[in-house]
Amino acid sequence: MPDSDTTLICTRCGATRPPDPLCWQCACGGPFDLIFEARFPLDQIVRRPPTMWRYREAIPLPANTRIVSLGEVMTPLLPLDFAGHTVWIKQDHLFPTGSYKDRGAAVLVNHLATLDIKQVVEDSSGNAGSAIAAYCARAGIAAEIYVPADTPAAKTAQIKAYGAQLRRIPGNRQDTAHAVLTAAQTTCYASHVWNPFFFHGTKTWAYEVCEQLGWRAPDTVILPVGNGTLLLGAAIGFRDLLRAGVIAHLPRIIGVQAQACAPIYKAFNENLDKIVHFEGQHTVAEGIAIAEPARGPQIIRTVRENRGFLIAVDEAEILASLRSMWQQGFYIEPTSAATIAGVLRYMQDAGNDELIVSTLTGHGLKAAGH
Ligand SMILES: *Cc1c(COP(=O)(O)O)cnc(C)c1O
Ligand SMILES: [Zn+2]
Repeated sequence: MPDSDTTLICTRCGATRPPDPLCWQCACGGPFDLIFEARFPLDQIVRRPPTMWRYREAIPLPANTRIVSLGEVMTPLLPLDFAGHTVWIKQDHLFPTGSYKDRGAAVLVNHLATLDIKQVVEDSSGNAGSAIAAYCARAGIAAEIYVPADTPAAKTAQIKAYGAQLRRIPGNRQDTAHAVLTAAQTTCYASHVWNPFFFHGTKTWAYEVCEQLGWRAPDTVILPVGNGTLLLGAAIGFRDLLRAGVIAHLPRIIGVQAQACAPIYKAFNENLDKIVHFEGQHTVAEGIAIAEPARGPQIIRTVRENRGFLIAVDEAEILASLRSMWQQGFYIEPTSAATIAGVLRYMQDAGNDELIVSTLTGHGLKAAGH
């Protein structure tokens, strides 16, 4: 079935083309975004079940798609106290596979199902692989997931449990990304980094936040950045809402990286437009340890356009935030704690009545043992 009202547009050279499951990258090497007009019939939306599919007219799937779902419920937005200031924290670790990646996987896999795709490959440090594997299992699509050899056992066990083929690649996350590209020449590459439909799933984070705040935008959002799948998605979501007249302004978007692997932080602060080589060190926030983010220039541009900046947090801050969140009852994974460490940093300069939103991204059971 042709997806007639969506078009791929290259974020680097601006070339356009129709969606094609074997074309994951523009001829110029750049990653694609989608041209798609999101609509928000608010009176209908508020009467629908509390899942991400309530924003149906804003999700680029044909209207007659029979949605493959694992129950993507709207996650709670809880007020937490940080240094005497309230910050609203979205509970996206509560998703079906234990991370917000389900937002992206749900839309991407539904898109591939409408194209009758039967087999995909994907590479991931863990959570995106689990999310793609789970939605493929639900949709009856065979998935082969490439992971770095040192991926935590809890994450590889989850990927295998869904029936996906696991390919362990020696070396770092970048070696895994390179290894999958050979397979991607002949098999559909269901990439959470390259495929723009993934970002048109993660954007529902912004929709839910604004609805939960009474259809208004926060002043500031603080989000993790490795490949930027949540940060870029959220930026698309807020832009959709602004264009449709649902919100009156865009929030400032602040990205958090682990200091041990902070290529975007470095490029942003050196006023560069692209990522230069970064010698990444090990970090407990392994989920955002991305030395060569494919969408680096797009992330830098997006943060600038949204009047934001980057924060880099060290290992001691991440571990202290992890313990502090656990002791308040939030069982998150270490990668998730990097964002909270970023929130704590930001609070030193936050305005008194600034409306700030951040998020928990991954469940602690994924990395049990830390
Ligand atoms: C994917 C992920 C992030 C964000 O990573 P990006 O590489 O920017 O997409 C943050 N936390 C967790 C737990 C994740 O799985
Ligand atoms: Zn291009």
